Amino acid sequence: MSLQSDTIAAISTPPGPGAIGILRLSGADAVSIAEKCFKPLGDSGLRRHAPRELVYGDLLDSGGQAIDQVLCTYSLGPHSYTGEDTAELQCHGSPMVLALGLEALFAAGARQAGAGEFTRRAFLNGRLDLAQAEAVGDLLEAQSREGARHAAGQLAGALSRRIGAVYSALVVVLAHFHAVLDYPDEDIDPFRLEQLDEALSGQEGELSALLATCGRGTLLRNGVPCAIVGRPNAGKSSLLNAMLGWERAIVTDIPGTTRDTVEERCELGGVPLRLVDTAGLRDTEDPVEKLGVERSRRAMEEAGLILVLIDASRPAGDEDLALLREAVKLAPTILVWTKGDLPAAPCPVKGYEEIGCPAVTVSARTGDLDELCSEISSAFPQDLWGGYGEILTNARQEEAARRAREAVRRAREALGAGVTPDALLTDVEEALSALGELTGQSVREDVTDRIFSKFCVGK
Ligand code: GDP
Repeated sequence: MSLQSDTIAAISTPPGPGAIGILRLSGADAVSIAEKCFKPLGDSGLRRHAPRELVYGDLLDSGGQAIDQVLCTYSLGPHSYTGEDTAELQCHGSPMVLALGLEALFAAGARQAGAGEFTRRAFLNGRLDLAQAEAVGDLLEAQSREGARHAAGQLAGALSRRIGAVYSALVVVLAHFHAVLDYPDEDIDPFRLEQLDEALSGQEGELSALLATCGRGTLLRNGVPCAIVGRPNAGKSSLLNAMLGWERAIVTDIPGTTRDTVEERCELGGVPLRLVDTAGLRDTEDPVEKLGVERSRRAMEEAGLILVLIDASRPAGDEDLALLREAVKLAPTILVWTKGDLPAAPCPVKGYEEIGCPAVTVSARTGDLDELCSEISSAFPQDLWGGYGEILTNARQEEAARRAREAVRRAREALGAGVTPDALLTDVEEALSALGELTGQSVREDVTDRIFSKFCVGK
């Protein structure tokens, strides 16, 4: 059953010309509104066709004039994305056709959908839980293959199932202590108490494991902050461009050209990276460059991965070694010998081996980044990310999971301090309510408002 009575409409494809543009409708009158604006070729009505069938015909403007030849399909609630009756019109991707088509849908009784309103209705109608709805947003914004796979897993319910298992286990504990409260004269068998403590500690462990995925979730969403550092002219901007596959930073052979930090996202060796190209690290009196040098140091301090670049075609100096020593103290570091296409300098400075960080050779000129890719892959192995979708990806989820774990901890303490069923019940109930927030069973309306307002219109 639908919780909303009005019918919403929106253009669901991005603005601008494209091969296909989609108009979408959801609500009690979706099909009748679609019927008014769409005429199947050669017969009289959309409803003569089965739900989900693709029907070819004319899209009519609000004056009844054909404006495009389109494909239309409808679904009947609850068997649809939103759980309501829905219709979709696949038009040519002309902004004008879509604007006229939308106008016709409004004239036929639909209203403009708000941001994320289709997915919000799917949530309200129980088609998706809140973790899954958030995954829809993550999927749309995924910046890497891994990010997309995790979002798809979460959308398919991987996180919800993991949370659901903890929830069910806690309900069993809750049920037991309700029974204790109802029959206070019955002693609790010590063996049973041990089992209950085991159940609580198991779920505490499970929540800790889930919380340990937060870092991964953040890195997946934001990318591993990766600082590219090295002396002026080491080839930082050229490497950044080669990693991105396009000219992002200005490349010159005047040392000190990259004065500001440049930040870009890319994926290398399957790892989502947020690349920060920094000004060359060196002592300087130039105030602008001085600022750049400070930023380089800050970028290293904030990095999850540091690439220390040394020009392999020139004799390396003590400065390079000092930089490498500093980097390894701050984050996982890879020594990158650049300009591998040029003859190597005859006598490299000694001492790199002792630092013990992996070293690779690249050439931005020929685009040879193979060694770097495989080194980055081994620095961030795939299994580090856990099962697809079984990770917490945002602060809201983390906060709720943390509250659930704290409550389970308190319940265990209550159990350990001698059975105080009512204290324990309050704590377990609080844990259940926090878990319910994760999936949306017990979430406040303003929280859902905030989540869906971040979505685009038409989603
Ligand atoms: P940055 O100051 O560290 O950012 O260095 P740049 O990327 O601006 O490069 C400095 C100079 O080295 C430029 O003239 C580049 O064309 C040259 N360079 C950079 N990478 C390579 C490379 O892989 N091979 C060769 N032959 N030259 C390179």
